[in-house]
Amino acid sequence: MKIAVMGTGYVGLVTAAGLAELGHQIIGADKDAEKISRIASGRVPIYEPGLDELLAANVRKGRLSFSSDLDAVTREADVIFVCVGTPQHDDGSADMSQIEEASRLIADNLNRYKLVVEKSTVPVKTSHWIKRTIGLYKKTNTDFDIASNPEFLREGSAVSDFLQPDRIIVGVETERARDILCGIYSKFKDRLVVTNIDTAELIKHASNSFLALKISYINLISNICEKTDANVEQVAEGMGLDPRIGGRFLKAGIGYGGSCFPKDIKALVKIGEDLGVDMSLLKQADEINLDRIRVLMEKVKQALWILKDKRIAVLGLAFKPETDDIREAPSIGVIRELLREGARLRLYDPQAAENMKSLFPAEPERLEYCASPYEAAEGANAILLMTEWPEFAGLDLNKIKAALANPIMVDGRNVFEPAAVRKLGFEYYSIGRK
Ligand code: NAD
Repeated sequence: MKIAVMGTGYVGLVTAAGLAELGHQIIGADKDAEKISRIASGRVPIYEPGLDELLAANVRKGRLSFSSDLDAVTREADVIFVCVGTPQHDDGSADMSQIEEASRLIADNLNRYKLVVEKSTVPVKTSHWIKRTIGLYKKTNTDFDIASNPEFLREGSAVSDFLQPDRIIVGVETERARDILCGIYSKFKDRLVVTNIDTAELIKHASNSFLALKISYINLISNICEKTDANVEQVAEGMGLDPRIGGRFLKAGIGYGGSCFPKDIKALVKIGEDLGVDMSLLKQADEINLDRIRVLMEKVKQALWILKDKRIAVLGLAFKPETDDIREAPSIGVIRELLREGARLRLYDPQAAENMKSLFPAEPERLEYCASPYEAAEGANAILLMTEWPEFAGLDLNKIKAALANPIMVDGRNVFEPAAVRKLGFEYYSIGRK
């Protein structure tokens, strides 16, 4: 069986490499020919731990290849995993134009039975639109099935998430589709959850929105902690020990970002509202998240008062550690606000600086990209920590302090222990704790 993976972004590349690792014959395809030629020549366009090695090993074993000839790939494939983007429209709804484009491509090239698997995150009922589109445009009387197999990988640990999944959701409406998809994942048969397609689609949006809700909940609690003597880390620990709650995703900070939570929560709000369901619970969670930038900026102003011409070191640009992805990163909102106030910024991130340069190009005297945290701290009036990269926890704080003009730290991710940092002579601000 030949499997095509349509779209070789974060999800598509990991899916292609992961399915090849399971022993399948995979062709990764993308409409971006330049991206494909980079990947084919061994240059992986994203930073994802372990992905380079997994791709290279499977290309070497002859199980994985790449092509930008979308028609040929589609004709050759028995199963097509659709991993194209589903970005956000201004009204919060998901932009499904890439899904429609992929559906029409499949319709044009439906030369024999194919199973079309939605892996992209899509609104519930999308499969009906894909089915209708393929049915409307197909040129032959050939059968096809649709299935939903939402992806739960987390950037930064995507390879192990794919190869050691908690669960694999298989949404199908025919036995043939179920047998093919369960067969592809037979190695994980104890973790397969088979549902109908609407359910599978909704599981993905409901999961991401719940995790976002959990983060906003602890951030709301952190606001109360800041007005009292409560410590949000201890509140979260005490809550999380209850197995009904669990400790994960209870980390107070400057909020969630990335290409999934912000857009998926908005998409679910839109889906619910279109269906006449009151979605104010999730709307509020998203508003709490947006408000995190204000909370952080208040701390910066509490420390520095007037920001004009102040030099500020910003450590961490990626929306989370172990990725170069800056989509919807909280750092973007903070950098924008700091620049608006006239601050001079010195930015550092272990992997995401190149991506950030496309949004905020370097400008002499106003915005500089630095080669290390210590260089960023050089002459700065304060240091802001925006992403909890492991290397930041291991910083030599004495060296940082010596580099800073003023020993002020605003820790947006609660990486450090307040007492320890203050003992070194820092004026230290963090989230939800004194
Ligand atoms: P991405 O933007 O990194 O990649 C999408 C790729 O699809 C791009 O390379 C683009 O060129 C290609 N493409 C677009 N239209 C195409 C077409 N018609 N034919 C072939 N290729 C086409 O996006 P991503 O982060 O990989 O996300 C893909 C989907 O997976 C989204 O729905 C997203 O919500 C979902 N998802 C993402 C993550 C994540 O952590 N990034 C996790 C789970 C689910």
